[in-house]
Amino acid sequence: MKLTTRMIGIAGMLLGILTAQNTIIHCGALINGSSDDVAKKVSVIISDGKILEVTKGFTKPKTDDTLIDLSGYTVLPGLMDMHVHLSGESNPKRYMERFTLDLDDYAFRATQYAERTLMAGFTTVRDLGGSVNTSMRDAINKGYIVGPRIFSAGKSLATTGGHADPTNGMRFELMGDPGPAEGVVNGIADARKAVRQRYKNSADLVKITATGGVLSVAKSGENPQFKEEEIRAIVETAADYDMHVAAHAHGAEGMKRAVRAGVRSIEHGTLMDAETMRLMKKHGTYYVPTISAGEFVAEKAKVDGYYPEIIRPKAAKIGPQIKITLSKAYKAGVKIAFGTDSGVSYHGNNGREFQYMVEAGMQPMETIQSATKVAAELLGNSDTFGTVEAGKAADIIAVKGNPVEDITILQNVSFVMKGGTVFKNETRD
Ligand SMILES: [Zn+2]
Repeated sequence: MKLTTRMIGIAGMLLGILTAQNTIIHCGALINGSSDDVAKKVSVIISDGKILEVTKGFTKPKTDDTLIDLSGYTVLPGLMDMHVHLSGESNPKRYMERFTLDLDDYAFRATQYAERTLMAGFTTVRDLGGSVNTSMRDAINKGYIVGPRIFSAGKSLATTGGHADPTNGMRFELMGDPGPAEGVVNGIADARKAVRQRYKNSADLVKITATGGVLSVAKSGENPQFKEEEIRAIVETAADYDMHVAAHAHGAEGMKRAVRAGVRSIEHGTLMDAETMRLMKKHGTYYVPTISAGEFVAEKAKVDGYYPEIIRPKAAKIGPQIKITLSKAYKAGVKIAFGTDSGVSYHGNNGREFQYMVEAGMQPMETIQSATKVAAELLGNSDTFGTVEAGKAADIIAVKGNPVEDITILQNVSFVMKGGTVFKNETRD
């Protein structure tokens, strides 16, 4: 047989793989994010930030290889939270701080939130609105600060007086007339311009507030706030730039408009009715419940002075409903992707959402897949990460014990690797 250049090339590549320094992880158990089984005694071989191979048994490391012994742990893919706001965090002074803090102040605080998120085992997040999230994505990717991979929506889009209008609740002289650059759109031309502005600001996706929301200084937490043709213009324009659209929605009418207009995901979905669930299944829309946010605001609404008075009744009504809605949507067969809305609740507590999802009736393994395989599908990145399989990024975490038997174990992550680099290892004793 004659050796072609191509064959020599392939042989060289294989030799390279065989002789390169690898990292080998011995996993006591492996939940790979895709299979329903928990595999016992598995080795994950990592090279150049990627998973090269997953093999049965404990592979012996070669001289140059690095061994990470997680034989007493359950290994999982890095977790993915599809709804966070890393630019801020809940606190009772928040409504005053927008008049007193500079963007830099927000940025320095946010570095803490990003680090806590990664240390909680979340190697990838979708940031659905904030002032410093896109710069933070770049700073993390360049290694200036520590945090998860971020898919950023930049500043989210609202209509005038809508949930994400940045001048809501201000006195008249301060309100001004924010437009597409600030994320406020009215009509189709504005909608297109706002999306193009997000692209110019290097956002990865677009977030809209299809209905009223709990934490804005406004009366309704559920009214529809976009016309369907405005949402359609946003979705179609976003597609031109390879961006998807996430829609915050509590009320059913705004949700239906968003689903029909083709958004990728419904966030919160609090007052979702059976008709909306049917529509979501028809259109393949993902549901990101964010029970953590519901539980948090319902609790804080009881505390005098934590939120402005106009917010308290909305928080008390909408908060406790989300878990009930997830229960119904899950039974109806709607696709569920994991998301917490951290920022509304505290960053780093993201793992609690698993417990809430199990309380809503999901199987533990399904909740894990919602934060791995399904989340990667939502992002359109199934080829790149989301599972522990050959060819994927080496985003890997480990916990003590079996989370399928006790889901609260995922609130206590001992080991975090992102792109082949270890960021946390509390397994050595
Ligand atoms: Zn949110």
